[in-house]
Amino acid sequence: MTDHPDHSHLSDSELRVRALESLLVDKGLVDPAALDAIVDTYENKVGPRNGARVVARAWVDADFKQWLLRDGTAAIDSLGYTSTQGADIVVLENTAKVHNLTVCTLCSCYPWAVLGLPPAWYKSFPYRSRAVKDPRGVLLEFGQDIADDVEVRVWDSTAEVRYLVLPERPAGTADMTEDALAELVTRNSMIGTDRLGEA
Ligand code: FE
Repeated sequence: MTDHPDHSHLSDSELRVRALESLLVDKGLVDPAALDAIVDTYENKVGPRNGARVVARAWVDADFKQWLLRDGTAAIDSLGYTSTQGADIVVLENTAKVHNLTVCTLCSCYPWAVLGLPPAWYKSFPYRSRAVKDPRGVLLEFGQDIADDVEVRVWDSTAEVRYLVLPERPAGTADMTEDALAELVTRNSMIGTDRLGEA
C-alpha cells in the first residue's frame, strides 16, 4: 500500500491492531479464519446495510434527502452512523442525466461508517487507475452500460472527504416501506459501480 500524507489510512491505532493480530495468531490465541469471518461480516453485511438505510430514508423523506445532499456528515450522524475516521461524507445524487462513480486513486479511502470495509477490487490497482481513465469501460465490466447522454462523474476520495452515491429510486417501488426499500440497495450501487433496476 502506498503511503502518502493525504491518505493516511494506517493510523497509529491501526498499526497497533495489526501488530496485536500478528502476535495473537503467532501464539495460537486466535484463529485467523475467525478474524476473516468478522471482517467479512463488516465488509458484506453490517457496513453496507447502514448505507442502505441512509439511501432508503432519503428516498422516502424529501427533507432528509435535501439535508443529506447539503451536509452528508450531519445527516448520516443523525441516523447513528457516525464516522470514526475524522472524514466528511459527501453524498452524490444519481439522476437520469448524471451517474456518479467513486474511487480512491491513491489507496483505499472509503466511507466505513456507511459501507463497512472496502471490497478487494476497490483497493486494486486496476480499479483505482481505470476508474479515472476509462470509467465507462469499468462500468461496462460491472454490467452497467451507461447511455451516451448520461454524464459520468468520477470522485476521488481522500482522508478528508469520503463519498457515498445516492442511487436513483427504482421504478415500481412507490408502495414499498422504507425497510423494504433498504433491502433493494446494494453496496456497489452506493460506490457507483452498480445501478438499481426495477423492483
Ligand atoms: Fe486513499
